[in-house]
Amino acid sequence: MPCKWNSICPLRKLEKAGLIDYSWSREYCESANNWINCKRYQAEEKGVAQSDNVMPDGSFVNNDK
Ligand code: SF4
Repeated sequence: MPCKWNSICPLRKLEKAGLIDYSWSREYCESANNWINCKRYQAEEKGVAQSDNVMPDGSFVNNDK
């Protein structure tokens, strides 16, 4: 089952803007259960706010365009 945030995650906008490719989605968001290792998911579960440009591995993407 995909991540429960899949449809509303900020990564979707970054994909549409061409700023990231779909490998993040394949490896995390749409995976059977690897989303549990996503830093965004983990922060969300703790109620910790995060920037829209944090990737599942905790790295940052430049989203200035
Ligand atoms: S980036 Fe993380 S929180 Fe967002 S949909 Fe993918 S797995 Fe879920």
